[in-house]
Amino acid sequence: MRLRRRLRRLHGIARAAVPDAVRRTYERTYPYSWLGILADVPPSCDELIYARGEDGFALHSMRSPSVSRLYLQVPNGTDPADWSDERIWDELDRRFAVDGDWSLARGPITSKSVTPMRSHVTEPMRYGRVFLAGDAAHIVPPTGAKGLNLAVSDVQVLARALTHRHRTGSDELLDSYSDLCLRRVWQATRFSYDMTTMLHSQPNESAFDGRVHLARLHRLAASRPAAAELAANYTGLPLD
Ligand SMILES: Cc1cc2nc3c(=O)[nH]c(=O)nc-3n(C[C@H](O)[C@H](O)[C@H](O)COP(=O)(O)OP(=O)(O)OC[C@H]3O[C@@H](n4cnc5c(N)ncnc54)[C@H](O)[C@@H]3O)c2cc1C
Repeated sequence: MRLRRRLRRLHGIARAAVPDAVRRTYERTYPYSWLGILADVPPSCDELIYARGEDGFALHSMRSPSVSRLYLQVPNGTDPADWSDERIWDELDRRFAVDGDWSLARGPITSKSVTPMRSHVTEPMRYGRVFLAGDAAHIVPPTGAKGLNLAVSDVQVLARALTHRHRTGSDELLDSYSDLCLRRVWQATRFSYDMTTMLHSQPNESAFDGRVHLARLHRLAASRPAAAELAANYTGLPLD
């Protein structure tokens, strides 16, 4: 019962209006989660830092000039209560450790939560007069920072189609809404999958797979075309 309520919260109520016989869902649950914190401390760096180490992934990001947002890869099922503030900062320090004089600034932690890493796509995104947009239709793991961007893009496409219908009486753009959005959604899903698998250490990862993920990272750091391809996906795909 709790799981059903949680899924309804994740996907919204409109999705259930698409009959089971029509609706197709594609899902992947990653074998790890993110422990996320908000801390009252200015960001330690102007840039995001994505770190991949043997003990797992860590991300440094910022909410505002005085509030930092940081994440640690943790096993699924982790209870945030098991992570004291000191344990979190120590683990972040270990995962961000670099040669040189940079260090992570610590401050009071004001929020702790665990986010499972999952991908989910519902097709089609339109059934009759029901149009799905954003997380109601698709979830991506936050590694690629795509979820909100995808939601806004869906709404842009839908707004354009509704305006067209209002002005011309034509359903043409409404009819193409689902296919058009799903092309972009699958590209973002693929990008988020690539980022997630490249940057996290997998439980029971073979030595071979670990080296392949590292090779992908080295390629990104060394090759301008490879970095440009990542940047093009990261900054956003065209609406159509
Ligand atoms: C830890 C984490 C980090 C993330 N980082 C990023 C990032 O860096 N970049 C990015 O682009 N995305 C990120 N995302 C994803 C992003 O937050 C979501 O993809 C985005 O908020 C989806 O927007 P939405 O409008 O579809 O859904 P939501 O933001 O969930 O909005 C749906 C709204 O509908 C309301 N609602 C639900 N049911 C009802 C109802 N029955 N009646 C009335 N109201 C209802 C909800 O309360 C909610 O306010 C992150 C997500 C997580 C969990």
